[in-house]
Amino acid sequence: MIPVSEATSIIQSHSIETLKEEIAIQCASGRILREEVKADRDFPPFDRVTMDGIAINYQAYKKGVRKYPVEGIQAAGEQTKKLINSDSCIEVMTGAMLPVGTDTIIRYEDIEIKDQVATLLIQDIQENQNIHTQGQDAKRNEILIAPGITLSPAEVALLASVGKKTVMVSSFPKTAIISTGDELIPVDLIPLPYQIRRSNSYALQAALLELGCQADQYHIPDQPEILETEVKKILAHYQLIIFSGGVSKGKFDFVPQTLERNGIQKRFHQVSQKPGKPLWFGTSSNHVVFALPGNPVSTYMCFYRYIKPWLLKSLTGSTKQSTAILAKDFSFKPPLTYFLQVSVQLEQGQLKAYPSAGGGSGDFANLKDVDGFIELPAQTSDFKAGQAFNYYSFRK
Ligand code: AMP
Ligand code: MG
Repeated sequence: MIPVSEATSIIQSHSIETLKEEIAIQCASGRILREEVKADRDFPPFDRVTMDGIAINYQAYKKGVRKYPVEGIQAAGEQTKKLINSDSCIEVMTGAMLPVGTDTIIRYEDIEIKDQVATLLIQDIQENQNIHTQGQDAKRNEILIAPGITLSPAEVALLASVGKKTVMVSSFPKTAIISTGDELIPVDLIPLPYQIRRSNSYALQAALLELGCQADQYHIPDQPEILETEVKKILAHYQLIIFSGGVSKGKFDFVPQTLERNGIQKRFHQVSQKPGKPLWFGTSSNHVVFALPGNPVSTYMCFYRYIKPWLLKSLTGSTKQSTAILAKDFSFKPPLTYFLQVSVQLEQGQLKAYPSAGGGSGDFANLKDVDGFIELPAQTSDFKAGQAFNYYSFRK
């Protein structure tokens, strides 16, 4: 059995090669950008009118002109017009190019137009007002978005505005989730008294999908021959493989031996943690295999504690560790790292973690009532309110 810190560093030292793929920008939110995005022209590309109204020459206003004959209309989406007489004006629409010879926009709300003459209703006009100047936000060829960031709809808008319909993002390894256990039946069947519906594989699939990773799902019974055949097939097709169940000390827990027999080298088995002690991890030159204990809470917590950070590090090259402050004293005596389920609340700028009353590692109904867990180190038994601990969130 190894400590949690060692399990973490062994896992983190086995990154998987992540490739790039080109996808439609509207599907890119949440994905990791793998290219530099540059401004294809100035942002905005021309002096842009930001209010519907009239465009004037400020010098006319300065010398006292308050009535401006209307020379014409400048709409959005048309070539720039030119003011002929500097004491006149041109009506302008939001998004239009600033007419040549004008430098100041006055809103319709602040003027009255009668017989093609605009009269000012206010007296405090600022030179250059209501104009979004060319290149104000970014200059042509400037880097707008650097690789490595997680895209959001805001970046999708930028990608569209520089003319990109597709974008290069990190692709995920081909991923399989495999549940094992003779007691497990498909969710759409009615269980016999000794059966349960398999839920872990769905939870894992959903958790991976939140990261953008689509995984396939398989189920294998606790029969060594079938396990052997299916493992061979899965290893031939997938790089990231996540088992749930069959890694403990039970008479029907065949997963570790089967994996090792098929070329997956065991990196560790069993971690001094609760829940999730039987965790198994192995690799080959092109596989990373996590075999999680089947207990639903163990499966769930092992995913958030090990697999999610590992996957994000493989994709982005870094991990962000959050912390939360224990809100109430808590004791846990056994010499194991304890993953304490908590609800969190932001209080005066601090994330406070309230221990959940929920039961042991089998109580997965409790997971819906908590936000995540904090990691309480093995060496200590009594944890005081006010101390900060690493926090792993179940929520987005
Ligand atoms: P195991 O790790 O195979 O010994 O399983 C531990 C416990 O978790 C048993 O009570 C199993 O029935 C349960 N279990 C294993 N896999 C799943 C699953 N996919 N969904 C729900 N419960 C599971
Ligand atoms: Mg089992």
